[in-house]
Amino acid sequence: MATYQYDIAIIGAGPGGYVAAIAAAKEGKTVCIIERAAFGGVCLNEGCIPTKTLIKTANLFQEMKQAASFGIEGVDPAGLSVSMTRLQERRKRVISRLAGGVKSLLKSNKVTILEGEASFVDKHTLKVGNTRVTAENIIIATGSVPFMPPFIPLQGKTCVITSKEALELAELPASMAIIGGGVIGIEFAYLLHTLGCKITVLELMDRILPMVDAEISAMVQQRLQKAGITFHLGAKVKAVRDNAVLFEAGGVESSATADIVLMAVGRLPDIKGLNLEAAGVACEKGAVITDEYMRTNVPGIYAIGDVNARMMLAHTASHEGMVAVKHICGKQAAMQYNAIPSCIYLEPEVAAIGLTEEQAKAQCASVKIGKFPMAANGKSLVEGDTAGMIKVIADGDTGEILGAHLFCKHATDMIAEIALAMTLEATVDDIMETIHPHPTVSESVPEAFMAAFGKAIHTM
Ligand code: NAD
Repeated sequence: MATYQYDIAIIGAGPGGYVAAIAAAKEGKTVCIIERAAFGGVCLNEGCIPTKTLIKTANLFQEMKQAASFGIEGVDPAGLSVSMTRLQERRKRVISRLAGGVKSLLKSNKVTILEGEASFVDKHTLKVGNTRVTAENIIIATGSVPFMPPFIPLQGKTCVITSKEALELAELPASMAIIGGGVIGIEFAYLLHTLGCKITVLELMDRILPMVDAEISAMVQQRLQKAGITFHLGAKVKAVRDNAVLFEAGGVESSATADIVLMAVGRLPDIKGLNLEAAGVACEKGAVITDEYMRTNVPGIYAIGDVNARMMLAHTASHEGMVAVKHICGKQAAMQYNAIPSCIYLEPEVAAIGLTEEQAKAQCASVKIGKFPMAANGKSLVEGDTAGMIKVIADGDTGEILGAHLFCKHATDMIAEIALAMTLEATVDDIMETIHPHPTVSESVPEAFMAAFGKAIHTM
């Protein structure tokens, strides 16, 4: 029988790779993790964590402007400003602290760390610079890169950036055009607009956040529009020429000018340089094909996170990592994709799980929809923002929870309750019978389920 240096070699130390490495080490496996750039991956270095750090400042800035309405005197809204230098310093401090934490966790779990770029030599061998690494199992966790669409030509003197550069802006631009009204586009629209930049969003579909329930996406757009963001929907971008985005919408050619253009039309799995052919790993549309145990077509090779393009979210990657490790350890725990929450960090926040109303109606004969407007929630009023609502979707016959869509304060924390309920296959009755604390925003969740069955207490 062949012998290998490691039980498991993991390529990439993002939230997929480093979690898999630690989980495997805790199972007694010998593990090596290979990273060519920064520990913590895109999420920690140029994605989730830095955006949320900047958004925290935007939220605070916004709230401080309203100090007088909370009875606080002495804050002159006109005198408030955000120092981009200090904001960027804070972003770097947060990243550096967390990145240090990731490395320490790996070391304390006795995971071997190799810094460099890995590529396959064969099914069990990787090349990292001049070093060869052999492993019985290999987990590919290389993440994704921003998609720069070849069908949108850049002509003349353009300033087109991706989310990576948008996070590192040394100065706030006066104006920005954002191509793509998905999660990245809308989070940056909110962030930069709140800091004082004029924002125009160009979205190909007829609504922003096409992955979110249509009613919630309309509410979010309305709120952002009221704040001053301009939207062009159904906008087919033809080119970026100098400082203008040329597009066609409803048969009319038009353009949006801005100092900077942010390209936010999706991300692509990062398989460049891996030499997957040497191991015979199969891909489809640039993503590594995996089954529910995260196995590729090659026994002993797994792929987790954005590189398999199943659901490009950090927490999905981490969970897929644990599923792959369990499978390697001989335990069968298939990945379930129906109860994965997804969050959008605006103010109020958006969080969604499961089916949208449209999807539920297409898949289920008896759909019950329940809504609870935040205007009827005491805690939201106390906190000074009653925008939004909670919308829940259930199977009217069985009481199965099919989906939940939250647009309210603390939504990104609150969605975990629904995730737990769906994972445990709890019914709407279980949620309604769970005593929620008062006053909280979370008490609106059982109210929304009650509304679905005509039992709401606090709405007409
Ligand atoms: P996305 O798929 O979420 O959105 C891309 C948007 O661009 C879509 O609305 C799409 O219709 C639009 N679009 C596509 N082509 C276009 C064109 N030619 N012109 C105009 N619009 C066009 O992609 P994203 O926002 O780039 O995010 C990438 C990934 O990162 C997603 O999987 C997302 O879930 C993830 N992400 C998650 C978070 C979070 O969880 N908070 C934050 C950022 C990114």
